Order: sequence, then C-alpha cells, then structure tokens
Amino acid sequence: MTFDSVSWLEQARALIGPAHVLSEAGGDDVSAHTRDWRGKFQGRALAVLRPGSTAEVQALVRLAARSGVALVPQGGNTGLCGASVPTADGLQAVLQLGRLNRVREIDAENNTATVEAGCILQTLQEQAAAAGRLFPLSLGAEGSCQIGGNIATNAGGVQVLRYGNMRELVLGLEVVLPDGECLDLLRGLRKDNTGYDLKQLFIGAEGTLGIITAATVKLFAAPGAQAVAFAGVSSIAQAVRLLGALRGHLGERFTAFELISGPAVALVRQYFPETPAPLSGDWPWYVLMEAADGGSDEVLREALQTALMACLEDGCLEDVALAGNLAQAQTLWTLRENITHAQQLDGSNIKHDVSLPISRIAGFVEQMLAQLPQAFAGARPIVYGHLGDGNLHFNVSAPPGVAPDAWQRQTEAVNQLLHDAVVALRGSISAEHGIGQLKRDEMALYKTAAELAVMRRIKQALDPQGLMNPGKVL
Ligand SMILES: Cc1cc2nc3c(=O)[nH]c(=O)nc-3n(C[C@H](O)[C@H](O)[C@H](O)COP(=O)(O)OP(=O)(O)OC[C@H]3O[C@@H](n4cnc5c(N)ncnc54)[C@H](O)[C@@H]3O)c2cc1C
Repeated sequence: MTFDSVSWLEQARALIGPAHVLSEAGGDDVSAHTRDWRGKFQGRALAVLRPGSTAEVQALVRLAARSGVALVPQGGNTGLCGASVPTADGLQAVLQLGRLNRVREIDAENNTATVEAGCILQTLQEQAAAAGRLFPLSLGAEGSCQIGGNIATNAGGVQVLRYGNMRELVLGLEVVLPDGECLDLLRGLRKDNTGYDLKQLFIGAEGTLGIITAATVKLFAAPGAQAVAFAGVSSIAQAVRLLGALRGHLGERFTAFELISGPAVALVRQYFPETPAPLSGDWPWYVLMEAADGGSDEVLREALQTALMACLEDGCLEDVALAGNLAQAQTLWTLRENITHAQQLDGSNIKHDVSLPISRIAGFVEQMLAQLPQAFAGARPIVYGHLGDGNLHFNVSAPPGVAPDAWQRQTEAVNQLLHDAVVALRGSISAEHGIGQLKRDEMALYKTAAELAVMRRIKQALDPQGLMNPGKVL
C-alpha cells in the first residue's frame, strides 16, 4: 500500500487543528525545524506538528504508529549532535513541543516545580526565582532550549559542580510511549524505591524511547549572594590543585569552576573587542569560578578572597581578580559564554565534548597538545570546559589558510586521535551533548558489545516499530 501524505496531513490537522500542522507541501516555511543549530545537518520533514496538550501528543503518536510514520521530537533545536532534525528523505514528522509550555505548579514547600516539556529553560528559572527558589540548570542556550530537550539530552552546563546535571534534577516525568499510552511518573519524591526507576530510561535517550510531555524537577533555596573570580594558572595540573583546594575552603558554596585556555580568551577578545582583559598578565590557562550562598555578597566575597589568597600562597594559582560587583561578574561570565560564538565566527572547527576522571585531565591535555600539531600541522586547539565536572570542550580549529571543507574532511582522523586517547583513559566521547546523528557510528566503536546489546533490547522493547527518532543514538 502506498503512503498517502495528503490524507495523513488531513488526519493530523483534524487531531490538533490546521494552524498547528506545518508542511512544505502546504507552503509553510519549516526551515527552522529541519536544520540543526550548527548547520551541519539539513533534513526534510513530512510535517512539523505542534500539539498543545499531552492528549494531542498521544493522538499524534497513535496516528504515527498506525501509519508507520517516524517522529522526531524537537524542543528548542539547540542540540549540538543533529538529534532534533529529521532525515533528508522527507518521510519523518517533527513533533515540536513548544506549545506545551506551562509551568503547571511550583510547590515551594516541597522545593519542586512541575513543568511542561516545551517550557523554555529561562522561563522556568525566572518563575522559580519569583517564588524565591532556584532552578539551577544553566547553559549558553537557556533563552531558547526547552526543558524536554534538556531532559532528553541530560544537559549539563555551568552549575553541575554543585547541583548535578539534568538527571540529578529530575524527580518525575510524564512520557507518551511509542504506542500512545501516557506513562505518568510525575512524582515529586526524593525517596522512592518501588522497583525500576523508569524515568531514568527517558533521561538522556534523545527522544528515541518516547515523548516527554512534562517533568517534576528539584528546586533549591535561592542564593542571595554570589561571588565570582577569574584566576590565571600556569598549567592544568595547577588548575586541578586549585579545584581541590577550593573544594576544601568553600564546600557546598562552590558552584562553578570553568577552565578556559589562553587561546580561547584571545579568540573571544578578537571577535568581541569590547571584552576587557580579565587579568593584567597573560597566562596559558584561566579559571572562572563562582561561589554562592544565602548570606550577603560582602561576606561571601570576603570568604572567596581569603580562600584565593591561601591558594596563592600555596602555589595553586598565579594571579587572580575578584569581581567587585554583579556587573563585573556578568562581564566575566559573558567572556565564558562567548567562546562558542567566537569559534563559530572564526570558521571551521572540529568539536569534542569529552569527560575524564579529573585526575587524568592534565595528562590527557598535555598528550593531545603534543600529538595534534604533529599529526595535523597548524591545527589550533581551543580548549575550555567544565573542569569541575571533568568535562572539556576540546575543539580543534582549522590551520590558517585551510578551507572549511578540507578541514572538516579531517574530522574522522582528528576524532580518532582524540577519542582513542579519551577511551584509553576510561573517559567518555560525549560528556553532555549526546550522540544524535553526529556520534552514532563512533559510539558503536567504543561501547562494548554487551552495552550496545542491552541498549538495543531496551529500544526494541519500548519502540518495536522503530518510530521514535530513528537513526539517532543507535
Ligand atoms: C550556545 C550553546 C551552548 C550550549 N551549552 C551547553 C552546555 O553548557 N551544556 C549542555 O549540556 N548543552 C549545551 N548546549 C546544547 C543544547 O543546548 C542542549 O543539548 C539542550 O539541552 C537541548 O535542548 P533543546 O530544547 O534545544 O533540544 P533539541 O535540540 O530540540 O533536542 C535535543 C534532543 O532532545 C530530543 N527532545 C527534545 N524535546 C523532547 C521531548 N519533549 N521528548 C523527548 N525528546 C525530546 C530531540 O529529539 C533531540 O534528540 C548548548 C547549545 C548551544 C547552542
């Protein structure tokens, strides 16, 4: 039987209303939904479906199951592995969750929020703040990424050191399964040992096992005080010593510890010339750090300053500047957040998002900085990341004069050099961005046969027709 796309679109319109079914065939511009944020993957969609409720998601999933149409869940489409866009054959439908955007409840006593999948991360942060609470997930795309996407990618960001990544922030989920049934796991419990913890299956699954429609997440006491500092260090080994020392001095107040290489700072200042020099001297590595607590800014700043002076005396850093106020703190954070944009403006680079035991990071980076220029003359490593979580973005920019296409053709070879070393040190080739289309084949090289077999069995059990985001992850 041949597939009748006209009749299929009609059925979808009948379920969620004609205004919420977009298609190229219907003359709609769907380009924002078919190309990924980095512009690496261009797909085509049978339709972009915008359901407005969990019941509408269920109805669409049932239609897709009956007709054998694959669905690609999509949030803010800010993912960096091509997981949120359809394949190029035009046979998959994008299920865009943006209309499910309500914060259903903030339970201040229980320190939880129940929020729909399409809620923008920043909106949840703001609503939590209005209730005197903190939702701590924080990342560069927070103005457009959505909670459902954050959960499906198990997003990390800059506060993992203190609050954990998305997996640690989710207490409950509502998920529409591939057969259209709604699995209601929306419990705001911190203790619940009643059998398998099913929600964990969907966190980080990149939409391959079901559609997340809502979540109950942890909130925290809003920190009244924040202190930010920027340090220069002579090596990553010194930065790791600084991390250990500050953990001792600051304990729970320590919220962020970001490593930035000298070339990364220089790149930001080249493309964003208004960025002030963070320190008077130049250092090969820098660290942006933050502490927060419920006290006053002055007291916390003093505590951080005392800790940093002790670290200076102990040889854990070379130079340091403490932000004197919120504006100065924001300027330092803007420098950090502009690295991705500066790299994009600078041209072609091959990105890596790796994690390693913190004790092995210095050796790994030294090894790579020695081997990369030998293997790829003129290649420019731009290294930065969440050192406090053992997570580095080890990006390799094209040698001067090498055309973007020619450099991208080296991706496999550059990846192999880097990722072989990461895996040899028992690290991960994807710390926080996921697998998607970008790293699917590579993941298969590094996972054990047993791990892959269990993943496939779970996929087969939940999605026997293979209609949930096929071609991603597995
Ligand atoms: C400037 C910038 C900075 C970034 N910084 C970080 C960072 O620090 N840390 C980090 O972890 N990531 C970072 N990212 C990556 C990205 O923002 C995150 O992966 C984010 O969590 C994706 O959310 P999204 O709503 O855009 O999801 P999308 O890109 O739309 O989708 C991502 C994946 O989730 C699936 N999905 C989306 N919604 C649902 C749903 N409701 N149910 C089931 N599956 C769903 C999609 O199918 C896809 O597989 C950054 C991206 C940019 C552009």
